[in-house]
Amino acid sequence: MRFREEVHKKAGIVSRFLDASEIRETHGIDRTGAIDSSISASANPAQLTAGILNHVCDKGVEIVGRTEVKDFRSSADEVVISTSDGDLLTARHLVFCTGYEFLNSLEHKNQSMISTWAIASKPRLNRPGWLDSYLVWEGSDPYLYFRTSPDGRVIVGGEDEETENTFQNNLKAHTKARRLAEKLGDLTGIKIGNPDFVWSAAFGTTPNGLPMIGALPGHSNVYATMGFGGNGITFSQIAASIIAGEIAGHRDPDAELFPFQ
Ligand SMILES: Cc1cc2nc3c(=O)[nH]c(=O)nc-3n(C[C@H](O)[C@H](O)[C@H](O)COP(=O)(O)OP(=O)(O)OC[C@H]3O[C@@H](n4cnc5c(N)ncnc54)[C@H](O)[C@@H]3O)c2cc1C
Repeated sequence: MRFREEVHKKAGIVSRFLDASEIRETHGIDRTGAIDSSISASANPAQLTAGILNHVCDKGVEIVGRTEVKDFRSSADEVVISTSDGDLLTARHLVFCTGYEFLNSLEHKNQSMISTWAIASKPRLNRPGWLDSYLVWEGSDPYLYFRTSPDGRVIVGGEDEETENTFQNNLKAHTKARRLAEKLGDLTGIKIGNPDFVWSAAFGTTPNGLPMIGALPGHSNVYATMGFGGNGITFSQIAASIIAGEIAGHRDPDAELFPFQ
């Protein structure tokens, strides 16, 4: 695939192609090329979520925890929701933004579950200076990503497998952690040592890598977002605009891109 700077620019992304000699000279990485893009962000997910929840509470939203939605029935102008507490709730609209978990009735043939792994080193790890201002993604198969944390840990992830439950296997987690550390070492020379943290998790993905967002087929007032893959932070923001628009009665021009098929 050819890098086209003007296409990035048109989308508001300032980026530059680095050829093999430049990427070796500036980052010490031995690869045929890379895109250096100015637009990416990282956040503390707990802090970000707390901030968003505080904000919506100020706007009158009620947050109810430790209650599972078990089922729903919809008619033209209302939805009835049953909960794990045995309560029935009614609403004008229902939005399932339940990440990679979903009710059996929402199971979709185009969403499949895969397993992924990540590790974090001890704090203040010896690392090249440039890394603290970059989020790195290697678009190989399986891909590799890495970045640093404010206390100087190096976080590395990837090694996805197209199996639903492998992420629950402890032995596999050990092998994957070692593999991620080796791959980072080969690419950058960074020595992770024994990681402080090893994570594994499931991802919900679709064949074309795009999520499904909008009203569920056959239900005009029940919405869902699913199949975010590894880009849920971006796609969930898009889902929020599309679904809020649908409920307010104006169709978002991007809605067509993410159909339930
Ligand atoms: C290892 C890993 C790395 C990732 N890296 C990135 C990244 O670099 N960039 C990026 O953009 N994305 C990344 N993602 C994806 C991103 O984290 C998720 O897509 C995102 O957090 C989804 O947010 P959400 O609010 O939609 O769902 P979630 O954060 O999963 O929240 C859904 C909530 O719904 C609740 N729930 C589920 N079912 C029910 C029910 N029936 N009743 C009541 N509550 C229910 C769950 O308990 C959960 O609290 C990564 C994911 C993983 C696992």
